[in-house]
Amino acid sequence: MDEQTLAKQLDDVTYRNIRIGFRWAATISLIILLMIIGPIWLNGIKENALYLDRSWTQYSFQAIVYLIGIALYHSQFPPQQWRKTATLYALLFGISWALAIYHIAFIGQMWPSAEIAADLIMMTSLLGFYALRQAVYAAIFPVLLVSTWANYIEAGHLLLLPIEKVLAICIIVETGRRTLYRWFYNSVEKDHENQRLVKKLSDLATKDQLTNLYNRRFFEYEIDKHCHLAKRNHLPLSVILIDIDHFKHYNDNLGHPAGDLCLKRVARTLQKSLLRTSDSVSRYGGEEFIIILPNTHLEGAKKVAERIHRTLQQEAIPHPSSSVNNFVTLSQGITTWKTQKGPEQLVQEADDQLYKAKEAGRNQYKAA
Ligand code: GH3
Ligand code: MG
Ligand code: MG
Repeated sequence: MDEQTLAKQLDDVTYRNIRIGFRWAATISLIILLMIIGPIWLNGIKENALYLDRSWTQYSFQAIVYLIGIALYHSQFPPQQWRKTATLYALLFGISWALAIYHIAFIGQMWPSAEIAADLIMMTSLLGFYALRQAVYAAIFPVLLVSTWANYIEAGHLLLLPIEKVLAICIIVETGRRTLYRWFYNSVEKDHENQRLVKKLSDLATKDQLTNLYNRRFFEYEIDKHCHLAKRNHLPLSVILIDIDHFKHYNDNLGHPAGDLCLKRVARTLQKSLLRTSDSVSRYGGEEFIIILPNTHLEGAKKVAERIHRTLQQEAIPHPSSSVNNFVTLSQGITTWKTQKGPEQLVQEADDQLYKAKEAGRNQYKAA
């Protein structure tokens, strides 16, 4: 497996996951806050004026944290900074809740509510940020600190109970985080492996093993598609059929392995000569190649044929037994699509032109 791409994919998925975590944690936190403060404010402690006074400040702070969470979900901050941003947001989230819990416990004197809120928020932080360890702890630490302090006061300044609770929470959070992260990692790894297999299968189905160009199956699918597109959009479409001159002599003289190497070099030359990403070259048969040039008139196709001729000349692959030249040469047949033509007719016409180029002495192109 390609470790580099797996690491990159893991990074991308964690980034997406944590952004959803921002929105989710912000929303849940607001709901929890409303659930805690709302009923208290309506029924319970109308006599506690200080608490009511300060709850508005608390609401506003929480609402700002909520808005920041939503904004982070929608923003496209620079990917190399997202870990830092996520950790800072988690810390802000934790601090805002630590303040709320302090407020509920120490000012409102509602110790059980404070404890419930702390537990819920620690669970929310774990579920929202589990993909990034530092974010989990940045969110949990301030809450844990204040709730332990509240526990300590409530327990009548006894240390044992709060310490036991901190230890239990730390163990639960860390083991839970590891379990969630393992699921997350396994699913990303499986997805990565599937993508790799799909790519491998698609390469096997569409690529030629020797030259790594597209194969004939791909060409047939592609030419059909481009004929339809040319017809529908009234666009030009050209095809060049290419054949290596006297390749049988090359093989007979230098051996089959040398012939294979020559085919690879010619394939690279052809690929180098195509400048548009929409152009494609396929291995059509043994030493025959075919090029599709979408959105290209005959004149443009001739230019491509001339470029192929020049590039192969520069490559100068020795061919000692050729009667045309001391180096490997090609013959090319060019044709262009017209309304009534189907793919077979297009290839037949290119083949006719290739035949003419061979007849005329090879190492040249002919165009219909
Ligand atoms: P022309 O100039 O008329 O095209 O002559 P030619 O010798 O190139 O054409 P011919 O069709 O007579 O021979 C093609 C040769 O290509 C025959 C075969 O040995 C060789 N060939 C086909 N596929 C491969 C391949 O995969 N590897 C190698 N090394 N040679 C191949
Ligand atoms: Mg041939
Ligand atoms: Mg040939």
